[in-house]
Amino acid sequence: MGWVDTHCHLFLHPDPAEELLARAEAAGVDWVLCPGIDAATAVEARDLAAAFPDRVRWSAGLHPHEATRWSGEVETIAALAADADAVGECGLDHYRELAPREVQRIAFAEQVALAAELGKPVVVHCRDAFAEVYEVLADAEPGPWVVLHSWTGGRRWTRRFAELGVTFSFSGIVTYPTAGSLREAVDLVDPASALVETDTPYLTPEPRRRDRNEPRNVVAVGEVLADLWGLDVAEVARLTSARAEAVFGRRP
Ligand SMILES: [Zn+2]
Repeated sequence: MGWVDTHCHLFLHPDPAEELLARAEAAGVDWVLCPGIDAATAVEARDLAAAFPDRVRWSAGLHPHEATRWSGEVETIAALAADADAVGECGLDHYRELAPREVQRIAFAEQVALAAELGKPVVVHCRDAFAEVYEVLADAEPGPWVVLHSWTGGRRWTRRFAELGVTFSFSGIVTYPTAGSLREAVDLVDPASALVETDTPYLTPEPRRRDRNEPRNVVAVGEVLADLWGLDVAEVARLTSARAEAVFGRRP
């Protein structure tokens, strides 16, 4: 079994998706999930999934940076989400805070509710907003269907979110020497409840950090996790890909 890159914005990379997917396949990546960040990019993600049905799954949602557009896009996104493999990416970003916090919270809570209503997983962006994301999720009967994308929490928040039974997705950040508190929290996550992702075109793992990121680099994330967990790399591929299939699995 190969790898699954559970979070890559193929539409933000200048290279054609066909080439990115070919390079990923050569590196042992079986399939990827491409999350929309607004209605227009959710359509792009949907079209990529239609063009590469065995290689690309997709999600529809509004990124917290764009949250002020929620009232104008909610109907389009809800209609797209009904056909998608997941809802998101959505969440809270109090680091860049490009939209007011109250507006981010409404858009996020409504997307979590939409995912629950549709019976689909939700892809969550959480940056410097652990307590607030926790509050929203704790109200929504969280479980494996909640995917915390590019997880960066330290031991305290990792323990609390793990108690909710959610799915943790690790990105290239875990390969950065500066990410000490995250690396120290990895052992609190059951490898069977974890995913790997690139967040293409951002967050390129070491040692290629200066390059634009792409799905093939998900292997470097898995290798660092294997080291931190004391597992074989092949076992990390098997566990994370099984979790990806369980969370984003398509029902017949
Ligand atoms: Zn993203």
